[in-house]
Amino acid sequence: MSQRGKQDELGEYRPLSYFQLMEVSLRELLVEKGIVSDAEVQATLEDMRARGPDTGARVVARAWVDADFKARLLENGTRACEAFGLDVPALRLVVVENTPQVHNVIVCTLCSCYPRMLLGLPPDWYKSSHYRSRVVREPRAVLAEFGLRLPDAVQLRVHDSTADMRYLVLPMRPAGTAGWSEARLASIVTRDCMIGVAVPESSGSE
Ligand code: FE
Repeated sequence: MSQRGKQDELGEYRPLSYFQLMEVSLRELLVEKGIVSDAEVQATLEDMRARGPDTGARVVARAWVDADFKARLLENGTRACEAFGLDVPALRLVVVENTPQVHNVIVCTLCSCYPRMLLGLPPDWYKSSHYRSRVVREPRAVLAEFGLRLPDAVQLRVHDSTADMRYLVLPMRPAGTAGWSEARLASIVTRDCMIGVAVPESSGSE
């Protein structure tokens, strides 16, 4: 093994953390044993970086226009997404529906588990200990900081993701969107709406 460290964005040499070292060691062993190639690892990384929340937005828009799909999505998110033609890893995807009475928010209190297959890589704030610890204790205050003020009568449910179980919030379809195409509906479904720290707005999308 060579020197274990890497340069940060300022060009400073920093030693690898325990988990970074473990990742490098495991990856090198897998390549050495011919189980995966470096090129495959790079291609997968590029694919992950290129993925964004548009896939999740398409799923939400379909659920808004197709009641049968929505029912299947809420019953078994993984199976419904597979039927939708998505390549879903062997994870349990639980889709939680916002209603006038209940608003859902997702978090991973332990680390950064996130429905990457639908939303891409999580934003930095999602991984921060600040968000992870506070959203479970004072969700209403955290949502207000995101600019989302919900009536007191709306119940908040915070869902803690795990390595094998991911959540996606199905936001409410906003008023004023009757007759919109699926593509136009998908355009107003942002990443934050599917995490639950925002809600879709019908204004401003032409
Ligand atoms: Fe996690």
